[in-house]
Amino acid sequence: MSFDKKIAVLTSGGDAPGMNAAIRAVVRKGIYHDLKVYGVYHGFEGLINGEIQEMQLGSVADIVHRGGTILKTARCPEMYEEAGQKKAAQQLLDKGINALVVIGGDGSFRGALALAKNGIRVFGIPGTIDNDITGTDLTIGFDTAVNTVVEAVSKIRDTATSHERAFIVEVMGRNCGAIALRSGLAIGAESILLPEVPFDLQEISDKLLRGFRRGKNHSIIIVAEGAGNIWEIAEKLKEYSGFDNRVTILGHIQRGGSPSAFDSFLGALMGGKAIEVFLEGKSEVMISFSNNDVIAKPLKTAFEPKEPFNYKLYDLASELAI
Ligand code: ATP
Repeated sequence: MSFDKKIAVLTSGGDAPGMNAAIRAVVRKGIYHDLKVYGVYHGFEGLINGEIQEMQLGSVADIVHRGGTILKTARCPEMYEEAGQKKAAQQLLDKGINALVVIGGDGSFRGALALAKNGIRVFGIPGTIDNDITGTDLTIGFDTAVNTVVEAVSKIRDTATSHERAFIVEVMGRNCGAIALRSGLAIGAESILLPEVPFDLQEISDKLLRGFRRGKNHSIIIVAEGAGNIWEIAEKLKEYSGFDNRVTILGHIQRGGSPSAFDSFLGALMGGKAIEVFLEGKSEVMISFSNNDVIAKPLKTAFEPKEPFNYKLYDLASELAI
């Protein structure tokens, strides 16, 4: 069977709900178009070790609703070295495969680009809960993570109201406050602290006090991981406002759970698009969700500087939480 009839798929970096729907779409649409589709287990590490298996229609049955990734994922230091990159590409070429779909974050896309330099046609599908990839409005997993935060905060709100307390909730986002901003806006947080926007804890404390004075019985402050040390923030707010607060760190629950309908949908669209561009003979492509459509862009778009922080949503959140 010739090279143009074979394609492999792997997941890499952090797992994200909806990756399985993307894997399923790659496998099923590939087989529909008479391709042999191969799954690579454990990301680039598995690729270097030759963990490559042909997928059948049944290999992806009953997975769309499951979180995580059936192909497993890994971080692989060897891929940063030329020797590792060559070995990874050779594993595919030895099996007569010269095309690979990489589902992951921008680090994984850099790994894909390294494989392109070694004779592999590559297609990147943005899969990360952080929504931090340049060139796409949304990444697979972001919507589910935001929904998880909203659900968790609604539970915290019950206890916050009963005790008439401020709760400070840390959500994921070391360099990018997308989860914090969207979930904070969705739940009507009193304040949202992001790595992208400087904040003044004295002002936040004054706002908390104003709220309580006019009869609010609880307050929720959403803090992205990268905005600062949550315990220090809580301590300072306690000192400035003179009343108690509680900290909740949501952690890895934000990565897990069944994908939202939107993430399964996005996974299907993006996986399908990857096969479409493969059949068109393209390479070094990233699949992007732009203006409510799934389109192909050059993979290098993902490495362009991030668009400037969009203050529209942040300002709205502040206006709504006066
Ligand atoms: P997430 O956003 O969930 O962290 P990611 O894909 O950005 O996902 P990384 O840990 O940055 O996660 O990258 C995943 C893997 O991709 C790395 O372990 C490594 O194997 C490969 N990779 C990352 N950067 C490079 C690079 N510059 N060159 C070659 N391979 C890379």
